[in-house]
Amino acid sequence: MTTFSDFGLAEPILKALSGEGYETPTPIQTQAIPLVLEGRDLLGIAQTGTGKTAAFSLPILDRFARDPKPRQPRACRALILSPTRELASQIADNIRIYGRNLRVSTQVVFGGMPINRQIRQLERGVDILVATPGRLLDLIDRRALTLSNVEALVLDEADQMLDLGFIHALRRIAKLVPRERQSLFFSATMPKSIGGLAEEYLDNPARVAVQPSATTAERVAQQVVFVSSGQKHRLLAEVLQDGAVSRALVFTRTKHGADKVVKQLDRDGIPSAAIHGNKSQGQRERALNDFRQGRCKVLIATDIAARGIDVDGVSHVINFELPNVPESYVHRIGRTARAGADGAALSFCNMEERAYLRDIQRTTRQDIPVMPLPLGFTPEPPLDAPIPKAGKPGKGGQNGKPARGFGAGKPGSHRKGGRPSFGEGAGAQARSGAPRNGAPGRPARPQRREQRPAAY
Ligand code: AMP
Repeated sequence: MTTFSDFGLAEPILKALSGEGYETPTPIQTQAIPLVLEGRDLLGIAQTGTGKTAAFSLPILDRFARDPKPRQPRACRALILSPTRELASQIADNIRIYGRNLRVSTQVVFGGMPINRQIRQLERGVDILVATPGRLLDLIDRRALTLSNVEALVLDEADQMLDLGFIHALRRIAKLVPRERQSLFFSATMPKSIGGLAEEYLDNPARVAVQPSATTAERVAQQVVFVSSGQKHRLLAEVLQDGAVSRALVFTRTKHGADKVVKQLDRDGIPSAAIHGNKSQGQRERALNDFRQGRCKVLIATDIAARGIDVDGVSHVINFELPNVPESYVHRIGRTARAGADGAALSFCNMEERAYLRDIQRTTRQDIPVMPLPLGFTPEPPLDAPIPKAGKPGKGGQNGKPARGFGAGKPGSHRKGGRPSFGEGAGAQARSGAPRNGAPGRPARPQRREQRPAAY
């Protein structure tokens, strides 16, 4: 089995890794680190949670440890681009940990923070700069930063960058970095548009891919409960009071929906906080910190805000609303079962979301076991109700057949009362699901995504 010392990384880095309890490299690390150490450009298909931050940052730190150079004013040697401020801070935090025994400086810049302070911090220059594209260009336009010394360029979560409308910013940045550089490009998915962008950035790249959809989805004990929209709030309160739920991340499709859940839980006496693009930077950081440190055990998030969130020990992911993009489901449930741990995910599915559920099951090639509604809830939808076709939720009645595989066809399977068995023994069921073979089917491009938050 490969170990970190097999890569020949500098001793201070190995020391920091063992201090963090990293024993064996993750698959993306095993594949990517030797290639990046060789100096190759890299195209990596991997999502947050796979250990990709270390995959790209350890070789960069290693190079800077062996080849230290004096800082140049208003310049950086490595530039790491991230779509969101949460991910940017997280990347910078991880790099500071991995490089804690080195004299390598790391700085992070993103929008929503006073720019003047960032300008002052950049004056002396920095070794590694982590940035969101918009703020980076602002700083360049104000002559607070030049990219002409960049030796290594990392573009993280490229698909998310495009979804957030950063394509023009990325094209501009590509023209501002020296041609002679190493480029590393990561994306969770590789649709054509990303392939085109990757070509602009990369020179004869090595390709590595890990299959988070398979590994993550198999480790998470998943369940779905059929419940009407009107009863979802009450069910959430009930589920959250289950003793097995120690730290829950609850997903909604919209920012408004997230705020509504917080208000409703508040009425039920369950403290929670929401993070989404309409919250100020301070509010988001406070909510995340409270959640990380266990002061608040319920965090409500939208897909974009949660992308890249790395919180250890999330015991449960609850999909209060199912995502209309199957990939988002995989991202969501990947927030639990981090770094090898097991986790549980429960999805609330109303009649209109059944089409989403069907897409999710098709993409993940798994049948999600059904959890019966607890006593006191009215089963919904009725067993003989028609299933809306995928992509047209809300327009029921097209095919009239119950969806295969999630218990809808089994009489009484979700009508029975009884306590919810959330988190108990569902792992075995989830793991016994159909094995995945190879890459998941390419999910359709999103039909509707949350708008780019104004603050990004
Ligand atoms: P990332 O995909 O970079 O966001 O990493 C996901 C999580 O896994 C982070 O909490 C990392 O600290 C952790 N991690 C990364 N690599 C390893 C490893 N080799 N062993 C244990 N944990 C790791």
